[in-house]
Amino acid sequence: MALTDKAAVVTGSTSGIGRAVAEALAAEGASVVINGIEPREEGERVAAEIADRHGAAVRFNGADMSRPDEVRALIEDCVNAFGGIDVLVNNAGIQHTAPTEEFPPEKWDAIIAINLSSAFHAASAALPHMQHKGWGRIINTASAHGLVASVNKAAYVSAKHGVVGLTKVIALENAGRGITCNAICPGWVETPLIRPQIEKIAAEQDLSIDDAKVELVRHKQPSRQFVQPDQIGALAVFLCSEAASQITGTSLPVDGGWTAQ
Ligand code: NAD
Repeated sequence: MALTDKAAVVTGSTSGIGRAVAEALAAEGASVVINGIEPREEGERVAAEIADRHGAAVRFNGADMSRPDEVRALIEDCVNAFGGIDVLVNNAGIQHTAPTEEFPPEKWDAIIAINLSSAFHAASAALPHMQHKGWGRIINTASAHGLVASVNKAAYVSAKHGVVGLTKVIALENAGRGITCNAICPGWVETPLIRPQIEKIAAEQDLSIDDAKVELVRHKQPSRQFVQPDQIGALAVFLCSEAASQITGTSLPVDGGWTAQ
């Protein structure tokens, strides 16, 4: 139980990767604030499930990551409930795919706000608490698309490259102060986020959903296997450990070889 007495916020953690990271932190004894845009009953049901499974304190906060005031209030909720914030995982994210000339401006604004700006606002609010304690871990869920590009993802690729840059700045500003900041860069992880892309391949190529998944993964990921959400959770726990205290400012691919090509 490496994280007993630590308090964590994981944004976008009612589903997918964020939920797996929240589970992994709770399993190590951390108190966790989970977050998502689902209705309150659904969020509280997920919080209760994680709390029961790991015997940890888990609460739900429905802050909308597209609203800076709500992002900052989420951090204060953790401080008020658990006496501080030691671990911040900026994970909330959305996707939209279209060629740049057809990309809806409101989708661009939403992706930049949720996938990039919320990480700035959350870190800005959390850092004074971490600096006061002389210990902190900020982990940003970027993407393979923080390191390389793909067509039809102008906003997502821009936001994720921005997250990689923000990660480096926060790491440099806090080096030597007991605080690290790193980005995790997953390849394809099977979560609701990528379902529309799988359905699009199935429709365009007249494939079953299972065959469309194989088709999606094989184009980018030499391993030809999805990354599992709990593999991201395990890396997040490692980044919180003392063994990782000199790892900072990095962007760590977990992508089956995608960005090695
Ligand atoms: P998901 O759709 O399963 O979960 C997204 C989470 O974000 C949910 O909890 C949802 O409630 C929350 N969310 C969405 N909009 C929000 C808002 N406005 N305010 C608060 N919460 C909001 O997605 P996922 O695949 O688990 O993605 C998590 C992160 O991982 C994202 O940043 C995504 O870009 C990144 N990522 C995913 C993959 C993949 O293949 N799935 C690959 C690389 C990176």
